[in-house]
Amino acid sequence: MTVANGRALLAIPGPTNIPDRVLQAMIRPAEEIYTGAMVDLTDGLLNDLRRVFRTKARTYIYAANGHGGWEAAISNVLSRGDKVLVLASGRFAIGWGEMARFMGADVEVLEGSWRGSVDPAAVEDRLRRDTQHAIKAVLMVQIDTASGVVNDVAAVRKAIDAAGHPALYMVDGVASVACMPFEMDAWGVDVAMSASQKGLMTPPGLAFVAANDKAHAAHERAGMKTLYWDWTARQQPPHYMKYCGTPPEHHLFALRAALDMIFEEGLEAVWRRHALLAQATHAAVGRWAEGQVLGFNVTEPGQRAASVTPVLVQGVAPTRIAEFTEKVCGVTLGSGIGELADKAFRIAHMGHVNAAMVIGALGAIETALKALDIPHGAGGVDAAVAALAAGTGAVQREAAAAS
Ligand SMILES: *Cc1c(COP(=O)(O)O)cnc(C)c1O
Repeated sequence: MTVANGRALLAIPGPTNIPDRVLQAMIRPAEEIYTGAMVDLTDGLLNDLRRVFRTKARTYIYAANGHGGWEAAISNVLSRGDKVLVLASGRFAIGWGEMARFMGADVEVLEGSWRGSVDPAAVEDRLRRDTQHAIKAVLMVQIDTASGVVNDVAAVRKAIDAAGHPALYMVDGVASVACMPFEMDAWGVDVAMSASQKGLMTPPGLAFVAANDKAHAAHERAGMKTLYWDWTARQQPPHYMKYCGTPPEHHLFALRAALDMIFEEGLEAVWRRHALLAQATHAAVGRWAEGQVLGFNVTEPGQRAASVTPVLVQGVAPTRIAEFTEKVCGVTLGSGIGELADKAFRIAHMGHVNAAMVIGALGAIETALKALDIPHGAGGVDAAVAALAAGTGAVQREAAAAS
């Protein structure tokens, strides 16, 4: 007998929980693709993606997952043999670099740590040594979903500028856009990409790319272009050209509903909700860590992501905890991947999540720790509740003072 029945809670870092309103938006007939409502829908989505990326740049929607978005970004601005610098802070930037390598780029990885952010000084130093400007693009993720590290996108732009380097700055926001501030224009990002199934609460299957004028200038010269990803082709007026074929209609209906929800809440409020729920999660993990078996992967509190928290586990298989939460409590946690495979579980607090869901996930983990006799500091959920009370209390007082 278990207590798992009830609404199952997905606490994995993608795909994330899909709001009922988004699911319901997909239950409708297909539409004609050349005129009318679909054309308006596409225009609205391309515009609203600018609001999400905080940019005036052009945006593109692909029927693809995040990996497709990576390929779209690379193929539009690079040529075979171009040198690319990947800034490592876990798994994902390296994955993006692997795709670039397959496509014929000369990829160099600036080694980083799985436990902390990309060091802007190291980036500046490497770029300064590239006196011939052989490096054509710098690839970084804002949040690395495997390590739980958040990188400082603005600081790395400053480092690139300090080195006087002209490389394109390309940032993966799959696990961070609509989870924390992302300011494409203010931070000087040339190409940004994301996908539908994380902060954007939409079924997996859409990738998004935003590219500024500098990126479009590189696009003119790029030799890796293929028709499916090509920005120039997608700028042509016929509606089906925007997708290089039939639009992924039902995904677009879903995305429309998800963006409406995000703008109704307010993008800044969405960021803040994620920050508060991350603080609550971190408070719980901090308490559990006192038992010396569990611990944070990311050492510096300021470098911990707002959307996902990997928890290291020593001397016990992390799958024991995750199996308990899933089979007994109905909460599915993420497993460790890459360097953290078999060493961690991951708690996602990303997308369509509220206090009840996050405290519920933390409660299920604490139940597992107790039931399985795994040493841990007591009161993790209490600490999460206290953090949430303090954080939401401050927000309430601020709102009262402003009104
Ligand atoms: C999930 C993720 C991806 C890959 O997305 P897929 O849809 O699985 O291809 C890329 N980057 C980051 C940061 C991610 O979290």
